Amino acid sequence: MGEYIEAKFDELKASGKMPSPKGVALAILRLVRKPEITIDEIANVVKTDPSLSGNIIKAANSERSFYSRPIASVQVAVQRLGISTVKGLALGFSLIDSYRKGRCQKFDYVQYWAEQLLRAIAVREIAIRSRIAPSEDIFSSALLGEIGRLAFASIYPEEYSHVLDRYAREDGEVPLGDLEQQFFYIEHDELTRYILRDWGLPDILVETQLRGVQNKDAKDSRQYQLAMTFEVAKDIARLGMADSKSGEFQLALDAKLTAAGLTEVGMDDLVENILSEWNEWSQTFGLDKVRISFDKMPLENHQDESIPTFMPAVEDEDDSRVTVLVVEDDAEMRDFVLMSLSTPDYQVFTAENGEDALARMVDVSPDIIISDWVMPELDGLGLCRVVRQSSEFNSVYFIVMTGDDTKEALIKAFNTGVDDYITKPFGQELLEARLRPGVRLAKMGKQAAQSKKKIEKLANELAIVNRKLSLSSLTDPLTKLPNRRYAMKRLEQEWSAAKRNQRPLTCMMLDIDYFKVINDTYGHGGGDLVLRNLSKIIKGLLRTHDVACRMGGEEFMIICPDTDREAAMIVAERVRQAVERTIFPFGDKTIHITLSIGLATTDGSNIDYDELLNTADKKLYEAKSSGRNLVL
Ligand code: GH3
Ligand code: MG
Ligand code: MG
Ligand code: MG
Repeated sequence: MGEYIEAKFDELKASGKMPSPKGVALAILRLVRKPEITIDEIANVVKTDPSLSGNIIKAANSERSFYSRPIASVQVAVQRLGISTVKGLALGFSLIDSYRKGRCQKFDYVQYWAEQLLRAIAVREIAIRSRIAPSEDIFSSALLGEIGRLAFASIYPEEYSHVLDRYAREDGEVPLGDLEQQFFYIEHDELTRYILRDWGLPDILVETQLRGVQNKDAKDSRQYQLAMTFEVAKDIARLGMADSKSGEFQLALDAKLTAAGLTEVGMDDLVENILSEWNEWSQTFGLDKVRISFDKMPLENHQDESIPTFMPAVEDEDDSRVTVLVVEDDAEMRDFVLMSLSTPDYQVFTAENGEDALARMVDVSPDIIISDWVMPELDGLGLCRVVRQSSEFNSVYFIVMTGDDTKEALIKAFNTGVDDYITKPFGQELLEARLRPGVRLAKMGKQAAQSKKKIEKLANELAIVNRKLSLSSLTDPLTKLPNRRYAMKRLEQEWSAAKRNQRPLTCMMLDIDYFKVINDTYGHGGGDLVLRNLSKIIKGLLRTHDVACRMGGEEFMIICPDTDREAAMIVAERVRQAVERTIFPFGDKTIHITLSIGLATTDGSNIDYDELLNTADKKLYEAKSSGRNLVL
């Protein structure tokens, strides 16, 4: 039911609470969507964030060969890594930074990131050795590989707490994904897939990681080795995080390492490298309180024996403060404004000129800008012009400080887009008075944002209820199979797809033989039991893309997309024979049934949708009159 998931994702995204990168990472994400972006442009943006710059340089150096000189400049690092890799890393780093705590009580944010980071490090160490994929791309894909879980925690903090609680109480009996599905009608893997696609991470890495190792993958294919690489890294991370380590687990891990194409690399060497990388990166991200050990090789430099720290749930951030950016090249004047505004009502940032202010805008996100007019690099009106043109900051309240309050100057200033001016020199009282309208506007904006949030939350809850309703109206309560309504809609869809792609499509009608006798002999309870178990048997025998529905009574329909008559015949015979052989226990009795099945196939061109159904019905009727327990 792909369309549900897509709609669901759009709905979650609309909630505005999806984990999203902040500051420079966000700027990079936007920048790379432009068609003609250069390394220099990216590097310049990276440079505005010292810690990101450091991390990018560090990452570039870990990929470097032993012969080359260490990289020390952001420019070279970005060049070495490539734009898309830098984007992935910036995304990951920014998210770790901004989501290390949150409101979901049962979600351990620190533990989550520690495990993701350990996994990402492990996957990179393996990739460096096997050269299966660019090591930094695979790093960020793994780091964000379970972002769907974090998304649930951010969007539905209370509900997800409840889900995690249930999961813990069921002791792993019910998969987490199933519980998520029950509550949110989407599970975290699906959500992860959509988020990472939305951010434009390499599709192949995202897909391979999420679908895992598949039986049908050829053992020496790249696909298989890549999937194995992700899986081994996941196991290694689990091993590193877990308190108790079983020998069996390690043995299995060794086998998988071999499967990942790492025959020469022993576990010990790998683990040693992972640990030293962990030491560095965990400190960078403040995750070094989490204790990691690999049985024989406990992390040495850790005297602190405390178990992973739990961050207290944070209350609503203090949203009431008004953020002011003071732009002034004269240090004395800057300090004066800063001092005048040093009350709990304001959060004040400073910049030395217009250029400097622009570089800080994304991080500071000011409600009010108080800017000097005459400054080097970019002057006050220049700054104002850029701000008014930007889609993000155009509603900022802009006050210009000026020594020139002639009529001409003021007209020019207002025409450029300033909201007010203040003539130098001025005292604290006048400054506060001039700020008042800006403060009032900012507060109104914040209130509007808050009520928008509330409305979005309501809309979200409503959407969940609606989804439940629409799902239940499409599901048969007795067998949990899709019902007739769904079947007809789906058949129509598959029929048009077949026509569009000139592919065959087969529709099967199934009917239990002499079912009335079953009811008469064993009662309605016996009949219902047969219907329920039969549904399970049918579902178990079908291929993943076949759809079984209950049309009503003891009649079922199976839609087989992309299937000609010959192939459908095999499926139908398989079902018929399996049912014929099955003994349904009912109390101390047993029930035995047979099925009649009618097939109709279109090759994508000839017959239309109604005719397909009619033919299948006719064939079923023929099977009945030819003695039942037959496929025709
Ligand atoms: P045939 O081989 O010709 O299909 O014979 P039949 O007895 O299966 O056919 P018929 O359509 O005459 O009877 C279907 C019976 O299925 C009638 C009804 O009592 C029973 N039935 C329909 N819905 C349900 C249900 O939800 N539960 C149970 N237990 N019985 C049902
Ligand atoms: Mg000046
Ligand atoms: Mg029947
Ligand atoms: Mg019938």
